Amino acid sequence: MDITEVTTKSALVRSRIPGVEFVINPYTGCGHGCRYCYAVFMGKYSKQHQQTAWGAYVEVKTNIVEVLRSELAGKRRTGTAMLSSVCDPYQPAEARYRLTRGCIEALREHGWGVSILTRSPLVTRDSDLLRTCIGASVGFSIPTDDDTVRQVLEPHAPSIPDRIEALRQVHATGIHTWVFVAPMLPMNPVRLAEMIRPHIDEIMVDGLNYKGQVAPLFRQHGWDEALTGDYAKRTGDHLALLLR
Ligand code: SF4
Repeated sequence: MDITEVTTKSALVRSRIPGVEFVINPYTGCGHGCRYCYAVFMGKYSKQHQQTAWGAYVEVKTNIVEVLRSELAGKRRTGTAMLSSVCDPYQPAEARYRLTRGCIEALREHGWGVSILTRSPLVTRDSDLLRTCIGASVGFSIPTDDDTVRQVLEPHAPSIPDRIEALRQVHATGIHTWVFVAPMLPMNPVRLAEMIRPHIDEIMVDGLNYKGQVAPLFRQHGWDEALTGDYAKRTGDHLALLLR
């Protein structure tokens, strides 16, 4: 893994994601290296890593907490920021750099809300902090119940059982928790619903958006059906019914 320390000029970015006001990405690149990741385009914004494979590099925005504090001090109103949109805020580098934690502390100091989206149990490190933030929510990306599917498509991300356990722990603290089943990978929806039901306040689903980059891998494993729009519709409807 190529870990490079960089500086950034901005922290809070207005979001075009429906329902998300601002996003913060403390890292460029992501050590989880999901094969279907929509954020692979971020490489073109990198000076050093345009040719480096997604998942093989991380740029650490070492000054992002100071930049964020300065931006928040200049805002006339508060809002909510989501970490993160094009990286996992609790990817392995966060254990050392603690930038996501620093950003949460800055948001809390300025009365801003915080929304987390991650695949990593490392978020449990910050549960005590998140509990003190206005309207904090923690979402876990759990796109399948099957860890053998996860090993193929999310080779460096935490296991599904580890995510479920972390979800349980965060939910038990009273923080609003949700699961983002996205993209809907090959799965047993009944089993996935049973695994997450006790630990969530809500669920969101989405289909596979960048099929081209993973279609050969899906076909190699006999998962052709999961590439279809019909699979996403049927699976999403089934999950919604099971968890309503
Ligand atoms: S955790 Fe998210 S940002 Fe990171 S590689 Fe996977 S899909 Fe991409």
